[in-house]
Amino acid sequence: MMTKVIKIDKDNPEIELIDYAAEVIKKGGLVAFPTETVYGIGANSFDEEAVKRIFIAKGRPQDNPLILHIALMDQVYELAAEFPEKAKKLAHRFWPGPLTVVLKKSDKVPYVNTAGMNTVAIRMPSNPIAHLLIKRAGVPISAPSANVSGKPSPTDASHVIEDLYGKVDVIIDGGKCDVGLESTVVDLTEEVPVILRPGAVTLEMLKEVLGEVKLDPSLLTRPDENIKPKSPGMKYKHYSPKAEVYIVKGPLDKVVKKIQQLAKNQLKNGKKVGIMATVQTSTQYKEGEIIVVGDRDKPETIAKNLFETLREFDRRGVEVVFAESFNYDDIGLAIMNRLEKAAGYKEIKAEGELT
Ligand code: AMP
Ligand code: MG
Repeated sequence: MMTKVIKIDKDNPEIELIDYAAEVIKKGGLVAFPTETVYGIGANSFDEEAVKRIFIAKGRPQDNPLILHIALMDQVYELAAEFPEKAKKLAHRFWPGPLTVVLKKSDKVPYVNTAGMNTVAIRMPSNPIAHLLIKRAGVPISAPSANVSGKPSPTDASHVIEDLYGKVDVIIDGGKCDVGLESTVVDLTEEVPVILRPGAVTLEMLKEVLGEVKLDPSLLTRPDENIKPKSPGMKYKHYSPKAEVYIVKGPLDKVVKKIQQLAKNQLKNGKKVGIMATVQTSTQYKEGEIIVVGDRDKPETIAKNLFETLREFDRRGVEVVFAESFNYDDIGLAIMNRLEKAAGYKEIKAEGELT
């Protein structure tokens, strides 16, 4: 398939270019586009054949449902059987923005979007390119992250080109994504809202609006046969670079010492070693491929750079990555959720004797 790459200025989107891409969506094509979270690969939600092609292009398992993106509040009524009070509160507080709500689906939504389930995931993105594309297409756009299934989500057009060139009709290059992690997913079909996937809209922020909010028990734990995640996507191995990733946990000074030691040993064994460091620690590492993921005092910088950093280790041919760990507060929960998945939940404790 011929892929056309179009550069659009996020701060001043050229409407004729948006309309070109919107036309491709209307005709049943696939368009990869930037959102404030990550890049998405989009199709008209009401066009079953087009939506099926998303799964093929990504190599996405059929049982992993998609998020349907809207530009206007009224579109919720088209997609959901009901728009409960709690969902309305969240929509008014956080839309447009990095929050997805799961509601009961309307009859109009083809099941291919929801992997056969009677619920539907809906989000109104704030990125001006995404917003205008949906608006001008005149239909909701189903869009999972624009990566090949299993790889880290794309936060820059170059990542999309790497993964999907030749597999989609259009790739819109709108620069780097602001948030860098996928949206928070909240299930509102039960009495108490449940976070199925943590993101930039944090547990604390949701509690402020809703009072009681629960975390899906499958978050942050190794996938367990006995705990079935409610968000089907969360059960798959995700965000994985080719390198083996280990998270080193403990007090920061001990973590740094442990990583120095681990890196030395691996280098001695002839391995190509990567270290995921932070502004606060990077000068303490002397050997290996050292990448600063962000600033511990500004965790949003870590969120923004995490996936790109994982891809960069691959680009450099790194075989083993030692990553510092982060606290689980606020956006830290989302950061650690993605990092744990990238690591396949492998961790090393920094405390105790160094051997
Ligand atoms: P992605 O679009 O690649 O960021 O993945 C979408 C995420 O939303 C996946 O983790 C899905 O499992 C989840 N999701 C989509 N629809 C639903 C739904 N109806 N119920 C629960 N989770 C959903
Ligand atoms: Mg994804």
